[in-house]
Amino acid sequence: MMEQITPVKDFHGRLLKDLRISVIDKCNFRCTYCMPKEIFGHDYAFLPESELLSFDEIVRLAEQFAKLGVTKIRITGGEPLLRKNLHELIKKLNQIEGISDIALTTNAIMLPKQAKKLREAGLQRVNISLDAIEDDVFKLINGRGVGVQPVLRGIQAAIDAGLKVKLNMVVKKGMNESQILPMARYFKEKPIILRFIEFMDVGNHNGWDMKNVVSKQKIIDTIHKEMPLEAAEANYYGEVASRFRYVDGVGEVGVISSVTDSFCASCTRIRLSADGKLYTCLFASSGFDIKKLLREGCSNDQLITNLMKLWARRKDRYSDERAEGKHNNRKKIEMSYIGG
Ligand code: SAM
Ligand code: SF4
Ligand code: SF4
Repeated sequence: MMEQITPVKDFHGRLLKDLRISVIDKCNFRCTYCMPKEIFGHDYAFLPESELLSFDEIVRLAEQFAKLGVTKIRITGGEPLLRKNLHELIKKLNQIEGISDIALTTNAIMLPKQAKKLREAGLQRVNISLDAIEDDVFKLINGRGVGVQPVLRGIQAAIDAGLKVKLNMVVKKGMNESQILPMARYFKEKPIILRFIEFMDVGNHNGWDMKNVVSKQKIIDTIHKEMPLEAAEANYYGEVASRFRYVDGVGEVGVISSVTDSFCASCTRIRLSADGKLYTCLFASSGFDIKKLLREGCSNDQLITNLMKLWARRKDRYSDERAEGKHNNRKKIEMSYIGG
């Protein structure tokens, strides 16, 4: 029988529903807006293996989170498919009572080898990142000269394995706004929802400037001129993407507009880094060291008490504050470290 769930609310009354788990900080890409290769070079100090949470430690934490009302888990990275035997973690997470949805965010390069195993382990959905449909543009963005075909093969492998696929495209002015229409055209009739993400000021190294943000409105207008769109209602409370369906009845797109239309009021997410720190916001500067407690032999009750306290004092609403014009030059965690 399911243990009783104790829902917890933060300072602003938001429930804790989603757990995002970063399983590794390394990546096989060097996307310019996330891990610019000038910063993340040969000598960059990635986490040593001993610092990474083990699968057992991750599962134990996820079990405690489920007792506090978490129902959804997203696995991310770095590139999560670089973590050895990831399917074994998925399998264990899938057995946790109360967890009804497990998803993965990936650049898809390693999906042809892993999609089937991941699906068999209980993975239901993948979000695949693809920022361009033209090779020349994509090669420059991913910083590794990888063309579009390997990603398309990864997408096909996911579909063949029975995984639901959504595509994420970060849009940055001067980088790939030319790809908005080609991407929309290419995926319109495919069984895949394309979602555009406004370029965000995560981390400290991606040279973010408001001038480089292509707004949700601009993205929708660009598509609407050629292929008319109409707004659609959210699928569920707290859905981060605004949905738009094509007026001709074939397909839809989404836009994640954390810059021009922030959604902190419905943010029910907590993030666990690969080295066992908990962050209550994507734009946080520091995290709560839960690994220390785990490795000191803390009981489950003690873990739960700490998690409840952490959530209860959460006041984060960084994107709303940005929209209110409150400047904040604090040092932030890197996107490749926390995983989005
Ligand atoms: N490597 C995996 C991938 O790319 O899907 C998972 C980790 S990646 C950090 C997760 C997501 O964050 C990707 O969709 C990526 O495009 C997005 N992302 C990274 N930096 C971003 C930024 N500055 N603004 C908006 N989205 C960003
Ligand atoms: Fe790697 Fe994903 Fe960041 Fe690109 S966005 S560098 S694939 S972690
Ligand atoms: Fe949630 Fe922080 Fe993003 Fe607001 S800025 S939606 S609180 S992660």
